[in-house]
Amino acid sequence: MNFSHRLHPAAPALIEVRGLRQSYDKSGAAPLLVLDRVDLSLRSGEIVGLLGRSGSGKSTLLRVIAGLIRPSEGEVAFCGTSLARAPADIAMVFQSFALFPWLTVLQNVELGLEARGVHAAQRRQRALAAIDLIGLDGYEGAYPKELSGGMRQRVGLARALVVQPRVLLMDEPFSALDVLTAETLRTDLLDLWSEGRMPIEAMLMVTHNIEEAVLMCDRILIFGSNPGRVIDEIRIELPQPRDRLDPAFRDQVDRIYARMTGSPRASAPREGGIARQGLAMELPQVSSNLIAGLIEAVAAAPYHGRADLPALAAHLRMEVDELFPIAESLQLLRLAELDDGDLHLSEAGRRFADDDVDARKRLFAQQLAACVPLAGHIRRVLDERAAHQAPARRFRDELEDHMSADYAAATLRAVTAWARYAEYFAYDEDADRFSLDDPS
Ligand code: ADP
Ligand code: MG
Repeated sequence: MNFSHRLHPAAPALIEVRGLRQSYDKSGAAPLLVLDRVDLSLRSGEIVGLLGRSGSGKSTLLRVIAGLIRPSEGEVAFCGTSLARAPADIAMVFQSFALFPWLTVLQNVELGLEARGVHAAQRRQRALAAIDLIGLDGYEGAYPKELSGGMRQRVGLARALVVQPRVLLMDEPFSALDVLTAETLRTDLLDLWSEGRMPIEAMLMVTHNIEEAVLMCDRILIFGSNPGRVIDEIRIELPQPRDRLDPAFRDQVDRIYARMTGSPRASAPREGGIARQGLAMELPQVSSNLIAGLIEAVAAAPYHGRADLPALAAHLRMEVDELFPIAESLQLLRLAELDDGDLHLSEAGRRFADDDVDARKRLFAQQLAACVPLAGHIRRVLDERAAHQAPARRFRDELEDHMSADYAAATLRAVTAWARYAEYFAYDEDADRFSLDDPS
């Protein structure tokens, strides 16, 4: 069978998302706005990537498109018709394989058809065809626990394909796999796609891996955080199959890094659509060890204080998700600047790299005082009090005037971790109290 796909620019989009907003109710606090004014379309013949950091709402968006969650506002249309519920033409593959351990491979794959009322003989035949297509023949009778991660994800793919969907949604389908297995599966899937051996007309894939997006996608939507929204679109015109070492490929990867770090809209921290500054400034949850480690790496050869982020990510074997929050912490503490995809150490950052442990702590304390208003505020309160201590609850309450309880707790945890390292102030977990351990 051949399901050759061509791009039909005139046809209505297979999927059209318009003005989508999604919030989650939080008990006793303002609802958490996860997606805001999301618009996107998916056309026949294309693979579209959704690239964003963890927590930006990508899985939520996919679940809304799949009809698993009803949007708070806005709509999802399939072939020009607004959806009341998920159409049978959309199938989804999850990051965790979500297989039933007590069912064999064949039974797991057949399951999707049972729910759709396909009778037994045809179920078996179609499941065997999907298993064969995805390279699982010989494993029909195996149980999930007997399979490697890569084989389990193949079962996940076969289960999605067996219903012969027109659209395949994939939520970080390769991120739980080791590097080699992931690459094999990507290549196999692209081969099936370009040879027209799957019934699928379009794929929408969530990823936080820039290279994976450039390798597979015709179009990449860059997703911003807090709340999640599409902030940029990049077309990848490189012919398939693509070569990661091709200079044009590297160039695309570089350009996406630059857009993801250079766009003020991508980095402006917001909650409920309002930029947070001053006490309510959003703080990345990044340990001082990672901050020190990144400064050292950038200060050392071959970077000598200025590093290209894609090169640094490859060198440190880190993905956007891991590297960006650390780089942003350096920026926030003015230990480095981020521009156009480069990270370069500031004067303070260079000094930090050369300092010994104690001098580093003093320098870090100075940066905290200068750059993180909440840290300076807590310190001043402690300085003013005779006993040099104050309940943490007080600051959490103060923060909750500006943000949800979850964010308030997370923000206070972040500032506490940095202040402890810098010995700027101390925190006693049992008493839930800040103090100046060594008031000088
Ligand atoms: P991503 O896939 O980009 O990592 P998610 O869509 O999983 O992001 O989550 C986005 C935000 O929504 C996160 O802050 C997460 O904690 C929150 N969230 C996700 N699912 C729920 C839920 N069922 N109830 C409440 N909050 C949720
Ligand atoms: Mg997710």
